[in-house]
Amino acid sequence: QVPTAADIREAFLRFFESKGHTRVPSSSLIPANDPTLLFTNAGMNQFKDTFLGLDPRDYVRATSSQKCVRAGGKHNDLDNVGYTARHHTFFEMLGNFSFGDYFKKEAIAFAWEFLTSPNWMNIPTDRLYVTIYATDDEAFGFWQNDIGLDASRIIRIGDNKGAAYASDNFWAMGDTGPCGPCTEIFYDHGAEIAGGLPGTPEEDGDRFIEIWNCVFMQFNRQKDGTLQPLPAPSVDTGMGLERISAVMQHVHANYEIDLFQHLIQSACKIIGIEDVGQPSLRVVADHARSCSFLIADGVIPSNEGRGYVLRRIIRRAVRHGNKLGATGAFFYQMVQPLIDVMGAAYPELIARRDVIEAALRKEEEQFARTLEQGLKLLEAELPNLKGTVIDGETAFKLYDTYGFPVDLTADIARERGLTVDQEGFESAMNEQRRRAREAGKFTVDYNSFIKVDSQTRFDGYDATTGSGQII
Ligand code: ATP
Ligand code: MG
Ligand code: MG
Ligand code: MG
Repeated sequence: QVPTAADIREAFLRFFESKGHTRVPSSSLIPANDPTLLFTNAGMNQFKDTFLGLDPRDYVRATSSQKCVRAGGKHNDLDNVGYTARHHTFFEMLGNFSFGDYFKKEAIAFAWEFLTSPNWMNIPTDRLYVTIYATDDEAFGFWQNDIGLDASRIIRIGDNKGAAYASDNFWAMGDTGPCGPCTEIFYDHGAEIAGGLPGTPEEDGDRFIEIWNCVFMQFNRQKDGTLQPLPAPSVDTGMGLERISAVMQHVHANYEIDLFQHLIQSACKIIGIEDVGQPSLRVVADHARSCSFLIADGVIPSNEGRGYVLRRIIRRAVRHGNKLGATGAFFYQMVQPLIDVMGAAYPELIARRDVIEAALRKEEEQFARTLEQGLKLLEAELPNLKGTVIDGETAFKLYDTYGFPVDLTADIARERGLTVDQEGFESAMNEQRRRAREAGKFTVDYNSFIKVDSQTRFDGYDATTGSGQII
């Protein structure tokens, strides 16, 4: 009997409570008082000011399971969804934190105990590898001497600039703020899966999957890039619940864990198909989580900022549903299956259910009207392509007339081995703005306005502002 994701979440929080940590609830996906951040992207976000010494708490050790969205900003995984085994737009980050209390030695010991102790996860140690920051001999010593890990399993990762690999063992939540060197733990899913060890050019495969990042918070990065020491060295760790669940449930991809299987099977029933293996189902399941949680936390689809990111995710989901053969509104029906598996841990889904369903349904119905036409236009253009690039004019027409965010067009293009001329798209947009300005007083701001229907409708006057509203 393998543990469910819910069991693992609870085991993690109990483990750290047993080590003197206070259990702190997840904060909202909309960062409080942090204009530098689009969405909450890590467990440490809600403790940012505590690390900086500006927001003292009545505890020095904390543990949480944090809702995270990585779909824009410094950490953006939107384009990975549907392509890797391990990335979501929404995921839960399990974390333990020390605010000037314990540091490297204990952080490493706690993580290892939770993963390998027979009382906890009991993962065979020959499946695990760790990375450290290239010059962090102290961390190397703890892994080798205190934990007893063979030196061949401890990989030094340097400054990745110019290197043949992308990983980076200096973690930062954004361009400014708390940061520091880190040590990461990887799980080997087996030789039959493509991918190499971290620090090799093949590392981005999905064989060795990063499960846990332990950051040794030491600095506050300033706007000019300089590193200012924090008042006290601290610890911030993050482990993806879906990734550790995949390990514990003996499956490779996060999408094969209990929680996602329920969402994927539900999507099949709603759409009326049988083949559970289609990649678009993963996208629909992933996007149902991020969109529902974002709306639950107060984001609404719009044409700018956070609302536009949400709109882009919904439209991608609707397009993947269309690809799966969905007719009519299907996406909002994913809210119930999501509540089945996550409502107990996140009661806001239940409390805000009507709002979530209504917002998804409205957005979906609105977009469905132009999606088909836009797809037809794109199909008609494809045979005329010279090379493998969809030109900016076409991408702009899809955006302007049919409401296709440019990343959605790029997503379709990628499935066919094509790309979109982003620069051409930008200049077509600028050209349109210029023409609109010249056309006189009836200007349209294409930054904040997207037609979603080929016919605009005048919807009377807004009594409060006295201005006309075009929808
Ligand atoms: P990767 O290299 O796989 O993209 P990362 O280094 O960007 O991961 P961190 O910023 O170190 O991830 O976040 C801490 C942990 O959160 C990761 O070790 C992983 O378990 C989890 N995690 C990060 N991004 C995602 C994601 N998009 N979906 C699911 N889990 C994630
Ligand atoms: Mg990443
Ligand atoms: Mg990484
Ligand atoms: Mg990492």
